[in-house]
Amino acid sequence: MTGAGEGGGAPAGPVDVYEVVVVRHGTRRARRSEVFLNYAQYGEPDADFTVDYYLWVLRSPTTTVLVDTGFARGPAEARGRTVLVDPADAYRRLGVDTAAPHTLVVTHAHYDHIGNVGLFPSATVVVSGAEVDFWTSPMAAKPLIGHFTEADEVAALTRADAEGRLRRFTGSVEVAPGVVVTEVGGHTPGQAMVTVRTGAGVVLLASDAVHFTEELERDMPFIAVTDLPALYRGLQTVRDLLASGAVDSVLTGHDAGVLDRLEPVSPELAGVAGVLGRLPS
Ligand SMILES: [Zn+2]
Repeated sequence: MTGAGEGGGAPAGPVDVYEVVVVRHGTRRARRSEVFLNYAQYGEPDADFTVDYYLWVLRSPTTTVLVDTGFARGPAEARGRTVLVDPADAYRRLGVDTAAPHTLVVTHAHYDHIGNVGLFPSATVVVSGAEVDFWTSPMAAKPLIGHFTEADEVAALTRADAEGRLRRFTGSVEVAPGVVVTEVGGHTPGQAMVTVRTGAGVVLLASDAVHFTEELERDMPFIAVTDLPALYRGLQTVRDLLASGAVDSVLTGHDAGVLDRLEPVSPELAGVAGVLGRLPS
């Protein structure tokens, strides 16, 4: 694919091209009225709706960038989620060295995205400053907001900060050659997305800026939101990125069946981990 290197941007070399490993670590059976905000207003019948849970690993020949860490078993099961693979086990099976000083992007601080930050004691944690400030403010204790977080998991972020490993950003930041993190807000105050250059074009990891393709295509916000206009703007931003060709494909935060469209990382990891833009080994 072309596009990313055009227009006088950074020169593209082999180290700038990544493969995206998508780990489906959990799932749940929900109802449409449980996932779309104010669903009754659409006047549509309710129906079952599957929500899958993902984390992502970006790998180039020289660099590994982690995007979110999935949920921890306890908080997941307390919320009725099904654990398909413990993320710690998934990292081990993928050969990710959790002791290495990787870059770890936190797209937002909900329990299903930061549940295993503590597995990476040497990582540099990249997160929007607005996100950290919000979840360490009194507002984080409000029931309809705090429901989506775990205090000890947010504490893993402040611990990384105390250890000099937290990299706050505003706007947009390139965290590795070819990997750019951009905050859009909406779902949470510092909700961020990641663009990465792959052999299959520029991929946008929308995380929970777009939970589901239907949310994007029908402009139907997810039920959990801290700033509704910002959420709508974020959806428009993603549509604009696609329409302009700035990104070639989008991976959403919680669509079911994403792995069905990807090549398994290995036969043993079929159904658990798929790869987009696989690099030659
Ligand atoms: Zn999520």
